[in-house]
Order: sequence, then structure tokens, then C-alpha cells
Amino acid sequence: MKPASHHVTRCRRCSAPIVWCLTSANGKRQPVDAEPDEAGNVAVSSGADGVLYVRTVTTARPEIRPGEWQAMPHHATCPSPKRSNGGAQRATSGAVRPVPWQR
Ligand SMILES: [Zn+2]
Repeated sequence: MKPASHHVTRCRRCSAPIVWCLTSANGKRQPVDAEPDEAGNVAVSSGADGVLYVRTVTTARPEIRPGEWQAMPHHATCPSPKRSNGGAQRATSGAVRPVPWQR
């Protein structure tokens, strides 16, 4: 399986082909590489409502179900990942601490 062509769009940062999916865990939008990748750690499926859903493939549940395909989250491959979009991203460095404003 692979995403239907009408799902495929391009990353605004690196113009790689991606598909937008909703995470099955919490319904957030997540970009995933459009091209299936057996090394990827997520499984994408097309819902009955025509929306793509993505779930993380875990060691506990590594099997890919019928109708799913394995792919790589675009965050993992984008050469210029977006960091400012309020995600729970890790701090870039533990060594540098911003000094809080003091009044
Ligand atoms: Zn990108």
C-alpha cells in the first residue's frame, strides 16, 4: 500500500513529497514521508473517512496490519525541521539555559 496521490503534498521547507496524517493516539497532524519506508517506525492507514491515520510501530506491536504501510515520519528526514510550532520538542542543548526575565 501507499498513499493515494491526492494525499501527497510537498513539505514547505524541503519540498519533499509528504502526506499529512492524524495520529491515532491523539489526533494531531503529523507529516509523514509519502514514499513507504520499511525502516520507518510508523504505520499509516487510510481511514473510512478518507483521512490518513498514523500510529507508531512499537516493539510490542511490530506487525503491519492489512491496509497499512510502513513509513518514516517526515520530522526524521526533513533537512530543516520546524521547531517553533509548539511541539514537545526537546531543548536543543542542556548546557545552555535561558536566563529568566527578572523584575
Ligand atoms: Zn521537509
